[in-house]
Amino acid sequence: MYKGRKVTAVVTAAGSGRRMGTPLPKQFLKIGGKTVLEKAVEPFEASEHVDEIIVVGSSEFLELCTGLCRQFSKFSRAVAGGKERQDSVRNALNLVEDGYVLIHDGARPYVDMETIMRVLEAAAGTGAAVAAIPVKDTVRQTRGGDNTDSITLPRDRLYSVQTPQGFDVALIREAYAAAEGEGFLGTDDGGLAERAGHPVTIVEGSYRNIKITTQEDLPMETRIGTGFDVHRLTEGRKLVLCGIEIPFEKGLLGHSDADVAVHALMDAMLGAAAMGDIGRHFPDTDDAYKGISSMILLQKVRELIEQEGFRLGNADITIMAQRPKLSPYIEKMRTNIAAVLGMDAGSINVKATTTEKLGFVGRQEGIAAEAVCTINRG
Ligand code: MG
Repeated sequence: MYKGRKVTAVVTAAGSGRRMGTPLPKQFLKIGGKTVLEKAVEPFEASEHVDEIIVVGSSEFLELCTGLCRQFSKFSRAVAGGKERQDSVRNALNLVEDGYVLIHDGARPYVDMETIMRVLEAAAGTGAAVAAIPVKDTVRQTRGGDNTDSITLPRDRLYSVQTPQGFDVALIREAYAAAEGEGFLGTDDGGLAERAGHPVTIVEGSYRNIKITTQEDLPMETRIGTGFDVHRLTEGRKLVLCGIEIPFEKGLLGHSDADVAVHALMDAMLGAAAMGDIGRHFPDTDDAYKGISSMILLQKVRELIEQEGFRLGNADITIMAQRPKLSPYIEKMRTNIAAVLGMDAGSINVKATTTEKLGFVGRQEGIAAEAVCTINRG
């Protein structure tokens, strides 16, 4: 409650994020273990004045929105968005009770409570307020249809508009109805209030409060993973390492092709992404994986980590085998792995070592492999 009236936050997360080039829209990408949407909602949950949080999601991702926001005690529901942002906000406004509404973009994860408070305070005073920051660049405006003639706008009066934008609920509902009646499509809520004849107050936003638009807007996160695997050498099996069939009197025993080097690499990649191990994703009780080439599984692991916004940085694989001699195959192993992962071979290293006839590897009972990799996000 603020000044005795209910405060509702409407967080929009219906965008498709086409500019990101990732499988998931930007609001669902993670920054340090939390999605952009969760980070955008958090300060509203923490604000003592906010009573209810409504999230607008595209119908395709509505369940995901609900799942992510259930942790917030003030979250009441996720509603399906419309074709344009304006349609999405209108759908939410239809459900908002009288009082004040704070409309915030779910792709702005760095909003702080001070900014929210400034917007709410101003909205309670004048009915309409937006967070904004002074423009740093000089801004020119074209005079006509082309770029051959333009004028400088007075920079000291220019602001970049952010969210949250705060309104008296009745005022913004009326502004939305007017815009809809005239078929007008604005770029933000303040624009609609202004069009309906209401003065809009600018309050201090924050330069940190950026909208995540492209991959570059996400902070780069690098993670490390390790993997280790052993398979028994046995007669009557092929020896496959990094996707290459190597002539030898024995092969590795396993449910798949038992490519121990690729298994170690996959576990390293999954480990770095905190996504468990290959046993979890490709259980050896599943007949679908019987005799399968581990290179196909490697492609799947690549897709799994890419769905989380990660891409492989580099990988270093060590194969421990007493015999056969692997050096003739090392270059082909590198290029094989690099091709499946869509990487330059310069980012993939494969090396082989004996164990000086010591242990199970030395006795040629099995082959072991170890892998370390980095993955990056952002
Ligand atoms: Mg294995």
